Amino acid sequence: MSTARIMSENDSKKRPFSFFTKPAFLANIENGKLKVFLREFTQNHTKVIVAVDIDQCGALGEDTNDVARAILTMYPNAYEDKKEALEHVIRSIINARMTEAINTIASKTNGEYRIVLYTQKSNILRTMRRDGVDLPEVDPGTIFFDGARSTDGATYLADQCNVSQDAMTTKNELLRLGLVTWAIGKESGQELSPPVFVTETKKDLEIVAKHLRVDPKKVYLYDDKSEKHIKELGNKPFAAEHMLSVDKFNMTSNDAEKAKALEAFLNEHFPMTELCKQNPALYRQIFFDPSWPEENRCLNPNGTWRLHYEGRGEPVKPWDTTPVLEGLDPRAAGRSLTWS
Ligand SMILES: [Mg+2]
Repeated sequence: MSTARIMSENDSKKRPFSFFTKPAFLANIENGKLKVFLREFTQNHTKVIVAVDIDQCGALGEDTNDVARAILTMYPNAYEDKKEALEHVIRSIINARMTEAINTIASKTNGEYRIVLYTQKSNILRTMRRDGVDLPEVDPGTIFFDGARSTDGATYLADQCNVSQDAMTTKNELLRLGLVTWAIGKESGQELSPPVFVTETKKDLEIVAKHLRVDPKKVYLYDDKSEKHIKELGNKPFAAEHMLSVDKFNMTSNDAEKAKALEAFLNEHFPMTELCKQNPALYRQIFFDPSWPEENRCLNPNGTWRLHYEGRGEPVKPWDTTPVLEGLDPRAAGRSLTWS
């Protein structure tokens, strides 16, 4: 099946985005063509791009309070040896408020939306440079990874770069990030893992729009640090309208029931007492952020997982989708009514 055939006018007018992301369709299109197809679809047939921040927003915790980092330090082969358990854990740390908002946006746009992830992780660019890996740079200090079929797994970011066997740190960092972005795709009910922007400079939606070749007006960001990003862009009205603020998603604001179930699962499948007992220095290396006192971490110094701290914070509130839905082009929204 050629891309031209897939993108023919007739097809695209009859078929909503969800058709193109069905497993049967995805299985039959080869990797290179999938990339081209998704880029064209994003550019020409997408009403909204929902950019989502990762740390304390799309996923629980942050770099220095990170469930995946702790697991992969203690169990470096977990993605091979304990894959199912690891995938379950990572899917369980995805913010349910995000998936609810995505579902709303998906239904109001007739499936014509795309999720992209947008994270500030200077350590990833640093690590890649140190390991001699070419940066897939789309703007100075910002790198981009294409989306992939979710069946391609959590290694889809590293798979796009020429990462040599001995560039283990880069491999591990991209796996850790890929696990979360893969899980965000799965939890949002997609058969696709989302594209990812990683930056070591300020966040700027115009860079995202330019690279995806879409109108910036279609791009919105959900972020727990929106205020900081808006300020860094000189309080531009565009940034203030399109960078939406959400509650911090961490061990004090997690949903209690879900967190307790995951806590029990982690203590059973990924016990950490050995790490903490035998290598306290490594523990301190993972959990070094002084803004997270011992008693608020996901892993206690005695090696017990804790995913919820009742009474220390407010449960994370629903994400406001109004600005995104009000920003929909009414002509585009009207056209979608003829699709079925
Ligand atoms: Mg954040």
